[in-house]
Amino acid sequence: MMIEVLPDEHRRYRSVDFNNLKFGKLFSDHMLEMHYKDGAWGEPMIKPYGTIEIHPSMHALHYGQAIFEGMKAYYINEHTISVFRPHAHFERLTHSCRRMCMPEIPESVFLNGIEQLMKLDYRWVPKTFGHALYIRPLMVASQEYIAAVESNEYKFFIMTSPVAAYYDSGFQPVKLTTSENFVRAVSGGTGATKAAGNYGGSFLPAKRAKERGFTQVLWLDAKEGKYVEEVGTMNIFFKIGDTLVTPDLDGAILPGVIRRSVIQIAKDWGVDVQERPISIDEVIAEYDRGNLMEVFGSGTAAVIAPVGLIDHKKKELRFDMENIGPFAKKMYQEITGIQYGKMEDRHGWNKNVSVGDS
Ligand SMILES: *Cc1c(COP(=O)(O)O)cnc(C)c1O
Repeated sequence: MMIEVLPDEHRRYRSVDFNNLKFGKLFSDHMLEMHYKDGAWGEPMIKPYGTIEIHPSMHALHYGQAIFEGMKAYYINEHTISVFRPHAHFERLTHSCRRMCMPEIPESVFLNGIEQLMKLDYRWVPKTFGHALYIRPLMVASQEYIAAVESNEYKFFIMTSPVAAYYDSGFQPVKLTTSENFVRAVSGGTGATKAAGNYGGSFLPAKRAKERGFTQVLWLDAKEGKYVEEVGTMNIFFKIGDTLVTPDLDGAILPGVIRRSVIQIAKDWGVDVQERPISIDEVIAEYDRGNLMEVFGSGTAAVIAPVGLIDHKKKELRFDMENIGPFAKKMYQEITGIQYGKMEDRHGWNKNVSVGDS
């Protein structure tokens, strides 16, 4: 791997106000870049973060061959940064490459690239609990070619961005509404792929939901508008009595790494976990019966997001709008505890990177 290190006096980390971070607006000093051409990936390069040159005919801009990943690195101590489940993110990226007809990334480039970036930019990992360094791998079709067939040139990047705690003033339960006119994804499509195009189409329904006072859309399946799929860009869990239910991966649902982690931890605790289709009517019926104890979303950004309200065709399900439920809270504490090295990492999810002068 070629590494071009920015001279210390040109690094920007000293001027960063780590107490006022806005998600996704600030990027660390270095990035990884690698090019695919003539049927092979070139050598990965780490270099100062900066602009890239593109032509208006760049394939991805027209036809959407663009995929990404998102994970976080956490400050453990001055010698250690911990990345949460990078291998699971690599597996999902590989799945996305296959679905979108894009070349796979060598595992060593992905994992070593992240490690080298952490070693170079560890000062960008915020130290406050809840804060983290967001890691964003991205692959785009880069050929100058506007024909609707797959590109034969690609660029792969890994950039990193310091982010604040999702909850700066306590948990704020989210308010959800179903959409009558729009769907996110359909099984057989690209819903299970972290593909850029999935998001472009979700902004209008999300905006409409916000205008009506809701935080996010509770997505229902595209075929019947009957089964619950996801919430915004999170997976969803229902605690019905003592059972934890989450929609099974039907090809339209994005297989979240936090989703997998929640299922594993719940099973470790001896909870009955069911991955199966769950209809919005079943959710409402369990609510009316008083069996729906908690609803929460899961994803890298928030880890666990309690749901305070579900609106569906004028029916409203109301939960505690002030507090997170006990199960969601315990899950949040367990996962963040593992991420910050404060709880036992039973499944070897953390990849610790030694940083600093040692
Ligand atoms: C990224 C994402 C998730 C959550 O995945 P995690 O790996 O848990 O962060 C869920 N749904 C959608 C649509 C996503 O893009």
